[in-house]
Amino acid sequence: MVIDSYSFLKKIIGRNAYNEIKEYARKIIPIATCILVALWVLSFIFHWGFISSLLNITTGTSLIFVAYIIGLIVLLDKGIDVVLEESNERYSRYTFPKEEPIGFKKTIVRGVTLVIFGFAAIILSNNYRNHYAFECETFLVDHQHQIYHLDCNNRCEIAKEADGLEKMKGYEIEESYKICYWCEEWAEDAEDEYNSNRYYRK
Ligand SMILES: [Zn+2]
Repeated sequence: MVIDSYSFLKKIIGRNAYNEIKEYARKIIPIATCILVALWVLSFIFHWGFISSLLNITTGTSLIFVAYIIGLIVLLDKGIDVVLEESNERYSRYTFPKEEPIGFKKTIVRGVTLVIFGFAAIILSNNYRNHYAFECETFLVDHQHQIYHLDCNNRCEIAKEADGLEKMKGYEIEESYKICYWCEEWAEDAEDEYNSNRYYRK
């Protein structure tokens, strides 16, 4: 008699793949969580470009973060113990019972809830990394006209002609200040999402 835990997510993912993910997740998730928390805490204290680049790689919609969330969901998922049935399938000797065992509905609720939280974590951390990227970027601020220019765009004619521009980081700029029209046009042409996001306040 072989006993294994059975859950809604395990049914969807498949027993072997699920067990494999869970095994990896046990080793990797604690370390990855510590790294992410450390980065997050550092981002509260400092406004450094390299932290922003690291957040860009490790959070939001990046593949690393999506894999992390999948691992975390599987790790936190809990099944109920069932007796496996012998099978003639090529890849597995045992399968889960065909009839839904008692308590299976609870695993559906738990699984679906975890997936919803996972999506929320991806969206929220994506917003956060974009917001932080703006905070770390340097701009040339025109206090007289309450606008800011991109420091990296040296083709802006308005910035060239303006006097007394102050170099400031995104988080230091007043909320009411707007991005310069020409710099915005230029930023919109920036190809990847990271570059186009870090020029605007989110
Ligand atoms: Zn400009």
